[in-house]
Formats: sequence, C-alpha cells, structure tokens
Amino acid sequence: MLRAFQTDDAALRPVAEKVLAGTRLDMDEGRALYRSADVLAVGWLANHVRERLHGNRAYFNVNRHINPTNVCVAACRLCAFGRKKDAPGAYTMALEEAWQAAASGYSEAITEFHIVGGLHPDLPFEYFLDLIRGLKQRFPQVHLKAFTMVEIAYLAKRAKLTIRQTLEQLKAAGVDSLPGGGAEIFADRVRHIICDHKIDGDQWLETARLAHRLGLRSNATMLYGHVENDEDRLDHLLRLRALQDETGGFQTYIPLAFHPANTPLQHLHTTTGWRDIKEVAIGRLLLDNFAHVKSYWQMVSPKIAQIALRFGADDIDGTVVEEKIYHDAGATTPQGLRRQDLIRLIKEAGREPIERDTLYRPVTRTETSFTVSV
Ligand code: SF4
Repeated sequence: MLRAFQTDDAALRPVAEKVLAGTRLDMDEGRALYRSADVLAVGWLANHVRERLHGNRAYFNVNRHINPTNVCVAACRLCAFGRKKDAPGAYTMALEEAWQAAASGYSEAITEFHIVGGLHPDLPFEYFLDLIRGLKQRFPQVHLKAFTMVEIAYLAKRAKLTIRQTLEQLKAAGVDSLPGGGAEIFADRVRHIICDHKIDGDQWLETARLAHRLGLRSNATMLYGHVENDEDRLDHLLRLRALQDETGGFQTYIPLAFHPANTPLQHLHTTTGWRDIKEVAIGRLLLDNFAHVKSYWQMVSPKIAQIALRFGADDIDGTVVEEKIYHDAGATTPQGLRRQDLIRLIKEAGREPIERDTLYRPVTRTETSFTVSV
C-alpha cells in the first residue's frame, strides 16, 4: 500500500499534487524543490516516480573505462585529469596499448567500453577511428560508448569536418552510443569560470541533437557542487528536458558531484550526502521524459548510490575496473567494483538487481559469456 505523502514544507504540497497526478513540473516548482530542506519529502516524491517507471528494479552493468589520453588543450578549472603535452604524468596510449588495456583487469565478460579522454592537439582523427575499429574487431559483442559531445566537437574542428560528418564516420567505425559528459552546467556565467575553453551549452546540446538524429543515443550529465546556484541547475535541467522532448535520444540522466581536489578550484568544499541525494531526487522529478536516473557510485560513493535507489535513482552504473578522471581529483572510492558487490549493494537496498547492457536490455550470463535479451 502506498504510504501517505507527509511534509511540513507547505511549498511542497502543490508540487506533490502534480507529481502524484503525473503532471510536468515547471521552473517555480523546481525552485520549491531546491529550496526545501525536507529531503525526505522530496525523496518520497522522486521514489514515487521511480517506482512508477521501474517498480523495484535497479540496474547495473559490467563495463570497463578506457581513457586513451589525458593530454588536453582545454585546461578547464574543474579538471584534475587533463595535462599539457609535456607535463609530468601526461600519457597517450598507443593503439595496441589501448586494445590491451581493453582486454585487461576483469574476469567477467564486459558488455560495455566507456571511452573518454582529453582534447589532444596532435592525434589525428584516424587514431580515434582506428581505436574504435580495432575494439570492434577484437570485441564484437561489446557496446562502444565513446566520446563526449566536447570531444566530438574538437575532433570535428581538427579534422575540418562538420559535427555530422564526424559523428557519421565514428558511427561507421563502430561507435554505438555516446556518454553524457562535458555538459557541466550550461549557463555561460558558470562555464566561463569552470571550463571556459570548452564548447558552450548550446553547442553541447546541438551536438547531442545531431547524434540523436543519426540514431546514436547518449546520456546527459550535470556537474554540481562548485560555483553554480539553483537557477543554473534548473536552467540546465530544463534545457535537457526540452531537447529530450524533441529527440527522445537521451537514455539516462547522471548528476555528477564535483571533486575539487587537485583542481584550480580546490578551495571549494566537496559535496555533502544531503546535496548528492537531493540532486538525484530533483533530477528524477524534473526530467519526466528521461527513462533512467543514475547515481554513479564512483562519484558519490557506493553508500550514497545505494541510498539513492530509494530517492529517485534506478541505476548505480557498473564495474568500471579502472577510473582515472575522478581519482585524479581526489576520489577515494575504489577503482572498480565486482559484479557481486553491485548486486549486494542493490539487494541490501531492497531492490531487485538487473544486469543491463548499455541500452538497458537484460543480460543473462555465464562466467565467461553473456547473452542480451532483444
Ligand atoms: S575536463 Fe575534459 S576538456 Fe576540460 S581539461 Fe579536463 S580533460 Fe580537458
């Protein structure tokens, strides 16, 4: 039986009425959610939506991250990963090395490679096409989720191609979908402070629009917990929602907690559990046209991700195996989790673990192989 909604925050009552009626929330109702200190009431509403969409199911996948290079021309203030070409710690994998990395570090069959890296000033577009072709050839069953909108725009510029041509060539080489990174916060004021050399918010959205039109699905992220405010986050979420109305190409929304260590913004505080949970819940409530909301355990810790499964999230991401980007920024989470660790986290939260592939099709596996239900 549905427990009754309770709050002592009067501003949440009209929001609750709309959520329970399945009606879309507007900007003012988003403001009420952000202003509310009643995280349990906000979470109750998000959980209501989450259960309406997914019942008791909670998704995870068996994936591996590959970061082919950390060399980057952009020098975003939010970043501890990117390095100038000759800086200590800069690396670029030879193609053989990247293919070997793809095959290493795990014992169970991987269903997804998540491939992102820096904006390298010298690597030719052919390197990325060969990287993808080589992975597809060696791992034909594995879904290749590769290159953020920011990387796509940079590759296009360097190769003197349009964004569309770049996406078409990557798709032909074997890219199956795109991750959601690089969105950060769309508002110019914030972007100038945290990542002023990146494409702007409109360009990020336009690149996603083109990818979706070509049949490439993508995720969408929002980086919170730095210099942005509630209005910036609301603007970001509503712009994502508007594009999703148009294309339907986003699979999952992932709020990403900012990690300030080793970045030029290291004077800022790390996010709190309260903020992490609330961003999941508000994302679930405002993005009514997104099927999935993920609490990415690497960013917020397995403990918070587990609790988020009762506050709007239906996914906690995957095994990852090797994570460089947030660990360079001081993340203290493990580099990877085993499949059985993810299952335990989900079961302890009282949810039913479902291993999915990148497109959320259920995966059935033996120890060394897997089958995707289509
Ligand atoms: S966030 Fe991405 S684009 Fe910006 S410096 Fe880091 S690697 Fe480069």
